[in-house]
Amino acid sequence: MKDILSMNFSEIEGLVTESGQPKYRAEQIFDWLHRRGAKSFDEMENLPKTLRNELENHCYITNVSVEEKFLSKNDETEKYLLKLGDAYVESVRMKYKHGNSVCISTQAGCKMGCKFCASAESGFYRNLSAGEMCAQVYNAAGISRHSALDAKSPGITEDNRGFRAKPAEIRNVVLMGCGEPLDNFDATLRFIELITHPNGMNISQRNITVSTCGLVPQIHALAKKELQINLAISLHAPTDEIREKIMPIAKTFPQRELISACRFYTEKTRRRITFEYALSKGLNDIPAHAKFLAKLLHGLLCHVNLIPINKARGNFSPTPRRDIEIFASILKEKNIPTTIRRSLGNDINAACGQLRLRRKEIAICPFHHGK
Ligand code: SAH
Repeated sequence: MKDILSMNFSEIEGLVTESGQPKYRAEQIFDWLHRRGAKSFDEMENLPKTLRNELENHCYITNVSVEEKFLSKNDETEKYLLKLGDAYVESVRMKYKHGNSVCISTQAGCKMGCKFCASAESGFYRNLSAGEMCAQVYNAAGISRHSALDAKSPGITEDNRGFRAKPAEIRNVVLMGCGEPLDNFDATLRFIELITHPNGMNISQRNITVSTCGLVPQIHALAKKELQINLAISLHAPTDEIREKIMPIAKTFPQRELISACRFYTEKTRRRITFEYALSKGLNDIPAHAKFLAKLLHGLLCHVNLIPINKARGNFSPTPRRDIEIFASILKEKNIPTTIRRSLGNDINAACGQLRLRRKEIAICPFHHGK
């Protein structure tokens, strides 16, 4: 049995022609899956019954359902606990003036072991499929019949439930939830292909951000694809010495290699890289660190995004706003474009680093021993 939600357009076309059906059926199926969030072949009422049966016999539609949702009182951020067949993951929808963003998970758990990140806490369970990544977006967009925006949500009626998403409903997709997207490389690329497809959500590559802790070989591989997506690097430290204390990956790929991979990426794609830098009191936040950082990034097509570290895992305290501003001003003085990121969804544990593999007692997972 194949997961049809993870199939790309030409694979669905192949399926349709093998069944002796005209090619336009692929468009209809893709539309049901990627614009209307169909959860069963029965719903696909414009397909002949024989084709629906045929699909049913060879494929399944990945089942991702909303187990629970949490609404932030401060900023309308909404976090979803999603049930996959055998695990739970989290995703987040954020409202911005310029449109909604959804932050999705790419793995159930994570192998990277960053000391400050809740996703690392329970270890790694499994990779998510491209279809499971898509389903997180469709839930947040409210297009599926069993979506996050179900009958109980205000403004959602029988008439507008389960029908095509307006493309504007989700403008940006960030792969910054639980997991390391470049450690699930093929599914991540397939997800990008599906979510940008003109017959689906048609989200622009420029509105997709892939965030990585810095897997150097995969950054090279991604660069060669020459996509127009945004690449964010979780840097968090100005030197190898500090980075190694908080991110085990720094021992495998020292900053020199990481920065050179980033340079290759910018040369290939002409896209500006974002460096994420979470400031923690006494760890990485003094003016000397800012100067080191400016030196490290000198001459690179990039931008630094500063954020006070969130309470998630380990004993880290956020740097006060005033010191973040000083840090930012030093970087700017050295001509490094810098912004201070607003943190959303803190009150519902939906902020950066706070997403995790949930309910491990239910998830069938040999690696989790509970806390
Ligand atoms: N594995 C990927 C994507 C997931 S993390 C990566 O490492 O980039 C998404 C972002 O949240 C990363 O920049 C990560 O470093 C950051 N993050 C993790 N824990 C955090 C915390 N406690 N406070 C602030 N940001 C955090």
